[in-house]
Amino acid sequence: MMLTSGRPLKNPPRSAEIAGHIKDYSSNWFVWTVTATDLAGEAHMGHVEYLLRKLEDMKADGMLVTKIENVCYLTGFSGSSAFALVSDDRRRLLTDGRYKDQAAKECAGWDVDIYTSNLFDSLGSMLEGVGKVAFEASMSYEFHQRLEAVVPEGGELVEARSLVETLRTRKDPEEVSLIEAALRCAADAFELVRPMIAPGVTERDVAAELDYRMMKAGADMTAFDTVVASGPNSALPHAGITDRVISYGDLVVVDFGARKDGYFSDVTRTLVAGGKPSERQRFVTDAVADAVEAAVAGVRQGVEASAVDALAKGVLDERGLLEYFTHGTGHGIGRDVHELPTISKTSADVLEPVTIFSIEPGVYIEGWGGVRIEEMVMLAASGPVVMSGAIPR
Ligand code: ZN
Ligand code: ZN
Repeated sequence: MMLTSGRPLKNPPRSAEIAGHIKDYSSNWFVWTVTATDLAGEAHMGHVEYLLRKLEDMKADGMLVTKIENVCYLTGFSGSSAFALVSDDRRRLLTDGRYKDQAAKECAGWDVDIYTSNLFDSLGSMLEGVGKVAFEASMSYEFHQRLEAVVPEGGELVEARSLVETLRTRKDPEEVSLIEAALRCAADAFELVRPMIAPGVTERDVAAELDYRMMKAGADMTAFDTVVASGPNSALPHAGITDRVISYGDLVVVDFGARKDGYFSDVTRTLVAGGKPSERQRFVTDAVADAVEAAVAGVRQGVEASAVDALAKGVLDERGLLEYFTHGTGHGIGRDVHELPTISKTSADVLEPVTIFSIEPGVYIEGWGGVRIEEMVMLAASGPVVMSGAIPR
């Protein structure tokens, strides 16, 4: 589906206008990203240069990157297992034999090493002469212990918590296009499947069709287990699917997304089976839609993520529905379907362009049902863009 039609939101610019925004924000882009470029290698080197600056701030000589999404982000590698070492004079990627040719092809500017027997011996040699090496706090305790045992003399490990994850919150134009492509797979699939969300069909049937259609639309896989929660099941914020047959007048929460080329999309729509909402369904749906609008309207450079969360909650509070909203308002979306920034009451994150995140308030009333609307929002230099705004509600 072209993302140009559908129900318009009142305030923010929508994805139809994204192309214009890409032109806008490339001029205001960070010093480490030159311009939008098809040369993946160059864009990824930009990420590394920014990381090196951060390492300098923490007085580390280099960093061993172990989380695969972070390795892929920095190197351009698209396989499922690799490690990267970054320092002023080194760009090394360590992977196994399966990825020999692929890594050499994808990781221009990187020295690719292949380990054959002992991973930790290879990591030890990789750290030779680097000095103070930052490691990712997300690694397991066992991995850390085994790594520590092979640190060469004169070397030292220092913890870097969420360092690459924080860099990843800033999306360059290439990443925005990739996320948009993942979103398009989901949007195209939903357009085809929407008419079948009707009385007499099971939740399972809808989810299976949606997953199939996302794959047909070009997704590498679904972003997560698709949620189709109908009737009383819609009151569960983390429902999955059941064999329940959708009946007339049910609320149906459909939460879906695609993964494509390493990037994710994540959208939720709530429909009324049969199409005619009751007065209460209308009241709750309007409240949730207004909460989305209020949150998006508050998105701008330098704003605290917790303030955006408060805007969504303020609307639901006014309508007497706040007690039924039991999760945070949103999360970053990129190489993980849940990444930084976190849009919640306790978040310390501050929004800076260009970042992409969900705004997804919901109201869940046990025994009655639930409504969630989830939009993907990009904070561009010129303000918020609802990337998913054209997917009909
Ligand atoms: Zn979702
Ligand atoms: Zn989400």
